Amino acid sequence: MHGKLKVGLEVHGYLNSGFKLFCNCRVDANAPPNTTICPVCTSQPGSKPMLPYRGALDKIVAIALMLGCRLNRRLLFQRKHYSWPDLPAGYQRTISGSYSFPVGVDGSFLGIGICDVHLEEDPARWDPETGFVDYNRSGYPLVEIVTNPEFVSSAQVRDWLKKLLTTLSYIKAITPDAGIKCDVNVSVGPEFKRVEIKNVNSLKAIVSAIDYESRVQLKAIGLGKQVLQETKAWDDRLQETVFMRAKEAAMDYMFIPEPDLPVITITEAYSKQIESSLPEKPHDKLERYVNDLGVERSDAEVISSDILLAGLFEKVCRNISPVFASRWFRKELLRVMNYLKKDVDELGFDESHITQLLALLVSRKISDETGRSLIEKLAEGPFDVDKFVKEENLEIISAEEDIGKLCDEVIRMSPQAVNDYRMGESRSLNFLVGQVVARTRGRADARIVREIILKKL
Ligand SMILES: [Zn+2]
Repeated sequence: MHGKLKVGLEVHGYLNSGFKLFCNCRVDANAPPNTTICPVCTSQPGSKPMLPYRGALDKIVAIALMLGCRLNRRLLFQRKHYSWPDLPAGYQRTISGSYSFPVGVDGSFLGIGICDVHLEEDPARWDPETGFVDYNRSGYPLVEIVTNPEFVSSAQVRDWLKKLLTTLSYIKAITPDAGIKCDVNVSVGPEFKRVEIKNVNSLKAIVSAIDYESRVQLKAIGLGKQVLQETKAWDDRLQETVFMRAKEAAMDYMFIPEPDLPVITITEAYSKQIESSLPEKPHDKLERYVNDLGVERSDAEVISSDILLAGLFEKVCRNISPVFASRWFRKELLRVMNYLKKDVDELGFDESHITQLLALLVSRKISDETGRSLIEKLAEGPFDVDKFVKEENLEIISAEEDIGKLCDEVIRMSPQAVNDYRMGESRSLNFLVGQVVARTRGRADARIVREIILKKL
């Protein structure tokens, strides 16, 4: 349906820098209204901006480099003028605009061209209903990532944005709980005008907005009408894009260079220093896990999506086969983490504990069942796994006659299941195996039990 659909994105996120851009106020989303403010971020008469906060510059340069951009060496802040109650100075300081040199340009991320990466300050939070303005947010550093209009489907946009967020999380570049906002440009072909949808704030809404808007445009063209160059908004309640303003009414922001700030120079040494601190990109990790380590792609995708999990995995792989480790990471470790709602750094155990545990599994000294309960126990607090297994007598029962006795017992006590199995009910075999394994408190290997029972039936 979207044969010629073209979508471009402007992705906005809060930089995870700790401080506002041009003053010493903290960034704190939970602070009571109007408590993290000062004369600079409320633009009181006579106040001047301080130099942009170094932590924010570090993050924005890191983002530009992760997205394969070329860095501009001279950064020029501009004043972008508009009159809203959320903007006490009447202008916003930004590196975008008519005379701008964005921080990074001409990048590429997973096949999509990055037009520019730039930095700006956030306005205050204004409630149009009550007129109340909270200046806490005024001056927060924002990153804007502008792509070329190269996406051809909403699904592609969603997958790409997910990977972008993973990559940004690797360098802790944006505040994850604040999420992202996107301006989405949609056109249904090169000969047609594009419509900009402002401030769409979830992956789901972005997909819906693109699908809805492309349908509307194709329908208009089908009826012989023109697509007008417009700015719209996404109404999540109506599930529709709604008109905001026409091209003719497009804002003139009267950009001028900010006279209170010097041109910021990004030196070669500084960018080298940032570059050397960057981690391997998540999709590079994924390909390396698949191609060099032989890990299943679906497992590699899950593990590489979390830099801490990936770090733990790589340490464990020094001693354990990556394929074996990846299965246990994906299935069991993540199960426990999800259940406890804990991140890797909150688990309390490290690679040595997981390595001990997996080594016992690899050598089949403990059963899968025991392995699973030991991971759960480790998540409550670390302990010496080898010692615990010995002390608690958890090693697998492998002596055939021991298991054989238990099998005889179970067969004797379950005539119905035995009969069902002989009548062709194969599920009854699983029941019998489960009974034997349960009697050993999970210490018998289900595969061996199965073989022995089969022989006896
Ligand atoms: Zn301030």
